[in-house]
Amino acid sequence: MTVSWIDTHNHFWVCDEENRLQKRLEEAIRVGLVQMLICAGCVSHFDRVRDLAHRFHCGYALGLHPLYIQNDWQHDLLILEKKIQENLSDPFFVAIGECGLDASSENTTPLEIQEKVFSSQLKLAFRNSLSVSMHGRGALDHVSKWLRRIPVKGVLHAFNGSESQAQTFLNLGVKLGYGGAMTYEGSKRIRKILSELPKEAWVLETDAPDIPSEKARQNNPLNPKSFPSDIAYYGQVASILRKESIEAVSTQTIENSLKVFPRFQNIFHEIKIS
Ligand SMILES: [Zn+2]
Repeated sequence: MTVSWIDTHNHFWVCDEENRLQKRLEEAIRVGLVQMLICAGCVSHFDRVRDLAHRFHCGYALGLHPLYIQNDWQHDLLILEKKIQENLSDPFFVAIGECGLDASSENTTPLEIQEKVFSSQLKLAFRNSLSVSMHGRGALDHVSKWLRRIPVKGVLHAFNGSESQAQTFLNLGVKLGYGGAMTYEGSKRIRKILSELPKEAWVLETDAPDIPSEKARQNNPLNPKSFPSDIAYYGQVASILRKESIEAVSTQTIENSLKVFPRFQNIFHEIKIS
């Protein structure tokens, strides 16, 4: 029997050519994928993720990613707010995301502006009882500061913080997302923290096509990518790290995913090839 998985964070439409997306999803369903959350990063993604989610009966999230903040971010926030209102009764609309903060050198938007965009999205989530899928590279303490002020349900995706930062998020009721990074031998801290987390604290994600696994890097060093089908492999790695059976990891991560993204409950097992 195949065990089931939920991919709580990906950018599915970027994974492959349009005509190969269906094949990619077939591969994922074959290894047990029962639901996924396709996350937008800027307003130009909004219609795309919604269309794909409707085509494949999966979840989508609308949000403004800290690496894609444009000069007219105030206008983008208004568009986001309008889209949220329009789609609130859409069962496939699951969350706000990908939103958050990024203090890496790759990001040229000042943290102050990022915080305005992020906190506005937290307020939208709070007002509309929506969960959030969050990014926090190099800025985890700033992310938790805002979550203390505006408490919402959500996942800190691709968690790469310290033990005490993990604890801070757990105290705030936020779950931690694990994917490709835990497959690297060198990710000692990520692996150790995952091995010790309480059962209810974490979820699985692929972030496809980003954060490819160690295996993907070896197989395709020039252009390594991740796909939703990697979710089963990540589940396996997590089961080894946590010394739990695959079935236990599957059951627990699905339960956690449905709890942190309650809107998934309406479309659980709905995913299909159109
Ligand atoms: Zn992402």
